[in-house]
Amino acid sequence: MSRFWSQVARDLTPYVPGEQPKIANLIKLNTNEHPCPPSPKVVAAIRAELGDDGARLRLYPDPNADLLKAAIASRYAVTPQQVFVGNGSDEVLAHIFMALLKHELPILFPDITYSFYPVYCGLYDVEHRVVPLAEDFSINPEDYCGRPNGGIIIANPNAPTGRLLPLAAIEQIAAANPDSVVVIDEAYIDFGGESAVPLVAQHDNLLVVHTLSKSRSLAGLRIGYAIGHPGLIEALERVKNSFNSYPLDRLAIAGATAAIEDQEYFERCCRQVVATREQLVAELATLGFEVLPSAANFIFARHPRRDAAELAKTLRERNIIVRHFKLPRIDQFLRITIGSSEECATLSSALTDILS
Ligand SMILES: *Cc1c(COP(=O)(O)O)cnc(C)c1O
Repeated sequence: MSRFWSQVARDLTPYVPGEQPKIANLIKLNTNEHPCPPSPKVVAAIRAELGDDGARLRLYPDPNADLLKAAIASRYAVTPQQVFVGNGSDEVLAHIFMALLKHELPILFPDITYSFYPVYCGLYDVEHRVVPLAEDFSINPEDYCGRPNGGIIIANPNAPTGRLLPLAAIEQIAAANPDSVVVIDEAYIDFGGESAVPLVAQHDNLLVVHTLSKSRSLAGLRIGYAIGHPGLIEALERVKNSFNSYPLDRLAIAGATAAIEDQEYFERCCRQVVATREQLVAELATLGFEVLPSAANFIFARHPRRDAAELAKTLRERNIIVRHFKLPRIDQFLRITIGSSEECATLSSALTDILS
């Protein structure tokens, strides 16, 4: 701290991202990146945008990223006016908190969820109440009905549990809260869930957020988007244009558009992750782990006789990194990203060895 800090900077509790180690040959299963490279069409589109001499980089990108919005709109059968794009879904979420969730009443989200939500509440001074998950870490939709609130945000599948809320429950929550915005953060929906996007046609208060970081293998390019009623999108555009007119650079727009358009490659890569996940779940169960049912590209698991922090440390000594959260209720769990089948096999044999 220095005397130059504003009161805002003093009061912040920033989000702590998972480690991005600079060491080679690590098996990195800590930040839910995809083990497959992005579609070859993404690489080709970025190369084409760059050209031989990169001359186009002299010019600002399209501030509205119309090309990308059109591709997303076509993929999800919505209009471009129902699409907002941003520099990673974290940025999209930040604008959502500022534009749509900051009201008189507190917003609601689960006690165990994406730990960025309380950080945005701190940044934008949004009051919130946490709603405890059930004992089995599931969300009870009734908890979000008949309770006055300034908005609701739910990650589905939830992070870091991986548990999926069925679409009927999302619809129930949206219908029960016609006067607040219900945000569904679907960062992991492509690994086994059913998206709530089709519900935005009937619910003008429902906003669905996606990222290209997980299922489209593009965490390094930074693209996220939201789909909802044009009235919600307009609020996000107003905040965005008061903050940064060009959140997506030229290469990101070109690459993201190609990624959205290559549906076949995307589905194939997601299927691979799901198959590896099922294999790893079975192996960990054999080792005595309790694994929560996962619809994501990670699993959340605990061992009844081994301390989670200890296990994470021991794995790290073997060059395998997983995520451990030192938080109430979940400090005995490890969150393990589904890597390639080889990486997961290495993890399984390391755990077999450690536990024997
Ligand atoms: C990874 C993640 C995000 C952020 O994704 P980016 O697009 O990389 O910023 C948002 N929400 C949840 C639940 C996530 O796990």
